[in-house]
Amino acid sequence: MGIDPWSTDLGLSLCSLVQDLTMTVLVAGGAGYIGSHFVRCLEEHGESAVVLDDLSTGFAEAIPDHVPLVRCAIGDRAAVRSVLEEVAPEAVVDFAGLIQVGESMRSPDRYYGVNVSQTIAFLDEIVRSGVKTFVFSSSAAVYGNPIRVPIDEDHPKEPINPYGATKLIVEMAARDYARAYGLRVACLRYFNAAGAHADGTLAERHDPETHLIPLAIDAGLGRRPELTVFGDDWSTPDGTCVRDYIHVMDLAEAHWLAIEKLRNDTPTLSLNLGTGNGYSVRQIIDAVSDVLGKAVPYHIGPRRDGDPPSLVASSNRARNVLGWNPTRSQLDTIVQDAVRSRT
Ligand code: UDP
Repeated sequence: MGIDPWSTDLGLSLCSLVQDLTMTVLVAGGAGYIGSHFVRCLEEHGESAVVLDDLSTGFAEAIPDHVPLVRCAIGDRAAVRSVLEEVAPEAVVDFAGLIQVGESMRSPDRYYGVNVSQTIAFLDEIVRSGVKTFVFSSSAAVYGNPIRVPIDEDHPKEPINPYGATKLIVEMAARDYARAYGLRVACLRYFNAAGAHADGTLAERHDPETHLIPLAIDAGLGRRPELTVFGDDWSTPDGTCVRDYIHVMDLAEAHWLAIEKLRNDTPTLSLNLGTGNGYSVRQIIDAVSDVLGKAVPYHIGPRRDGDPPSLVASSNRARNVLGWNPTRSQLDTIVQDAVRSRT
């Protein structure tokens, strides 16, 4: 843990901040890509955030200076307990976790360690603290290879990689905790988060970057070697993998709506967050080329282990239950916002 909020000035500043505002949300993983956009979303709704992040993959610069950052792992029970006692948040949103499908195939121990063991420890502390509202970053990877498309929430859950398995395990634990301990839980299954805040001050940033849109942009800008397309012999219309890209600010908004819904006493929610539109890797390359006004250099490489050929959401439930209405998730808007954030 980098900062001890109880023996330093941070403890006092956390208290005063919390008292002044209507709702404080503890955002685990708030220094990461989706988490930092959610912090922005909360602020745009007039609420406040306290971020808990060990900065293993996130960036402190992604958090505004006035937002408290407690640097610790979600599995550090003593530190987490202290933060929960001090902040007494209305809700906890958990973005903290490892997210790379390919890496999860090579190093499942890390994924089960962080995404399951540490996350369950975190959940225990949340329940113990008396916080009643928990929103969990889950993934379309819980479904595995789709047997029908678009994928609705009742689709069988048979993950084909450790990343998806770890998300499903925590979903199951969270639902059991909801039943037994009165926790209200929303598991939000993301399809492909993409884009960036329209003001260009936040970006999709991973180190190393493994995601398609930032890699395609950087290849088009000549900042990295040509893109490798992971296989063009899939059973999809153009042979490359199809994904459902959802704008990160639309995704963030759904978390806000989920908190509101849970606070109104809805006990559990499991919701897909996507658009219902699938785009192939080739279509993404073309969209990035159009926005940049230059070709994205690429070559076809082997398939990536653990990739399903196609993941496209039915998000009717999120629209109906939350009143969620994505406004920035047209592909050209996503790519324009992503390009703006990287140039
Ligand atoms: N992809 C690719 N080349 C890359 C990175 C990704 O062809 O360098 C493909 C990947 O196989 C997948 C899609 O792009 O079909 C989106 O991958 P990403 O890693 O962005 O997200 P994921 O679907 O794994 O969550």
